[in-house]
Amino acid sequence: MRHTSLTPRSDKMGKVDRKNQIRRNLILRALLDYGPKSLTDLAKITGMTLPVVSRTVSVLRREKLVIEPREKDTVQAGRPPSMVKLNGKAGFLLGIDIGRLFTNFIILDLETRIVSDTRRKSIPLSNDIGIIDELEKEIKVVLSLAGVEWSKLLGIGISLPGMVKGKEGLGETYFNFGDAPAREILSRRFDKPVHIEHDLEAMAFGERWFGAAKDVKNALCVNVGWGLGLGMILDGKVFYGEEGYAGEFGHIQVVRNGELCYCGKRGCLETVASGRAITKIARDRITKGASTIIVSEHKLTPDEIDTEAVVKGAARGDEFSIELLEDAGRYLGAGIAMLINLLNPALVILGGGIPTAAPSFLESVRAGAKKQSLVPLNRNVKFAVSSLGNKAGALGVAVYLAEDLFDVQRLNPSAYV
Ligand SMILES: [Zn+2]
Repeated sequence: MRHTSLTPRSDKMGKVDRKNQIRRNLILRALLDYGPKSLTDLAKITGMTLPVVSRTVSVLRREKLVIEPREKDTVQAGRPPSMVKLNGKAGFLLGIDIGRLFTNFIILDLETRIVSDTRRKSIPLSNDIGIIDELEKEIKVVLSLAGVEWSKLLGIGISLPGMVKGKEGLGETYFNFGDAPAREILSRRFDKPVHIEHDLEAMAFGERWFGAAKDVKNALCVNVGWGLGLGMILDGKVFYGEEGYAGEFGHIQVVRNGELCYCGKRGCLETVASGRAITKIARDRITKGASTIIVSEHKLTPDEIDTEAVVKGAARGDEFSIELLEDAGRYLGAGIAMLINLLNPALVILGGGIPTAAPSFLESVRAGAKKQSLVPLNRNVKFAVSSLGNKAGALGVAVYLAEDLFDVQRLNPSAYV
C-alpha cells in the first residue's frame, strides 16, 4: 500500500516518528473499532498512559482527524468534555466490487458511514491494461455524483472474482497486467493506496463489519450466485490460507463420477449447487420433456431459462422448480456439513442471488447441513441470509482500507512502545 499523509512510509521514519505514528494509529484504530470514546477509555483500550493519550489526541485534533462528538453521538448523560471520535469528513474510502454483470461502488466516510452507494454497468473483467482508463472514468463519475473530491479520497479497494492473491494485491484471472501486481500499477496511476481483494474475502470483511457476522468470531459466508464461493472468518479474522486461495469450496467433490466441472474435475459441488448448475439441469430436463409452468405458462424456451425463471417458478408453487432448488440446497447443505465438522462455526451466512430471492432455499441447506454434520457441532450453529445483499463486497473492500490505514502491526510496535 502506498503512503498518504495518514500513513507515511515506515521505512523512512526515525525512531521518534515511528513511535508517534504507532500511538496515532492505536488511537485512530480504537476509535474506528469502538466509536466515540473518552480519553480514559482510550488509555485502557490502547494500553498507553493517560498523558500520552492526551498529547496524541491533541495532535490528532489539530489535524482535524478527531473531533469532539455532538451530544447525540454519546449515550452518557453529563459526559465529560474529553470525549473524542473520528472526524468522518476528514477523508473517504472507495470500495468497488466488480462483478460479471454490475459494478458496485460504495463510498464510506472515515467513520465508516455510507456516503454513496451506486450500481453501474460492469467494468469489463479482462487483463487489458486499457480497462484502467474505464475504471478511472467510472470512479470520477461516482465521486462527482457523491460530491466527494478526489483529493479527499484516502484509498481505493477493488474486489474481483476469479483467482486473487489479496496480500500481494495481485489479480490472477482478471486485472493481470503482466509487469507488476494490479495494486502497484493502480496505486501509481491514482497516486493513492489501492487494495485488491478476492470477492469472497471482501464479502467476509463486509459481513464482519456491517452484517450478520458482526461480533461473531467464527462465521462462514457462502455465496451462491452463478458460481459458488466461501469466505471464512476464523477467530475474528478473515482467513486467506498460505497464498490467499482458501475457500475454493465449490470444487470439493460431492458426486462420484459426476458432471465435468469447468475446473477440469468431476462432480464438484458447483456442478450441482450453483446458479450455473441449476440453469443447466433445468434446461436439460426441460429438453427431455419435463413438465413445468416455466414452459406451459411462462412460455420460455430452454435457452431462455435461467435461475431467475426457476426461482420465480418455485415462488408460484411449480413442483419442477421447487425440486431443483431443494436438490441444490441439500447438496450445498452436505458441503456445509463438512465445513461445520471441520471448523465449528457459530454462523453460516448465505449470500448471492439465489438465497436472497428464494427464502425456502435456506431451509433445504439447513436441513442438509444438520443431517450430515455431528450434533455437538451443529446444535448451536445459526443460518442466515445476508442482509447486505450484493453490497457486501464493496463495503468489505472499503472497510479493509480503513483498517489498513490505521494498522499498527506493520510498524512493529513491540520494538517501540
Ligand atoms: Zn470444479
